[in-house]
Amino acid sequence: MTQQPQAVAEGKKVRPIVPFLRLGGNGEKPYLVGQKCAACGAVYIGSRVACGKCTATGPFNEIRLSGTGKLYVYTIVYQSVPGIKTPYVAGIVDLPEGVSVSCTVIDVEPDPRKLPFDMPLEMVTQKVREDKEGNDVIAFFFRPAR
Ligand SMILES: [Zn+2]
Repeated sequence: MTQQPQAVAEGKKVRPIVPFLRLGGNGEKPYLVGQKCAACGAVYIGSRVACGKCTATGPFNEIRLSGTGKLYVYTIVYQSVPGIKTPYVAGIVDLPEGVSVSCTVIDVEPDPRKLPFDMPLEMVTQKVREDKEGNDVIAFFFRPAR
């Protein structure tokens, strides 16, 4: 499931870093999408061959996921690949649709005393790099809800 890049300026395009991120546009904010099992309603991130809950092989319908969630668990990462600033917080965020998403939690101190479980978070997007064609690559993050 590859998305076509969206034009934002003359010759310059943006691409989501993962296929389940929709960049919005025309006044719409970016959002994540899930795959919902038509048989039992279980929601997944990413494409599925079969439902892990009821074993149905589909159909799975795309649904828009909430832009807010709660911090389920996290780890503080002190070593990463070159070019990635450390320490940072790698978290798993529970969304109200019953699915969890793994992401970097930003705008927080990498300090367990300041990272309560169930902390309300909201999704934001940022350009993280340019691809080989010079298009902006957009990633999603969660930060404390404002
Ligand atoms: Zn199912």
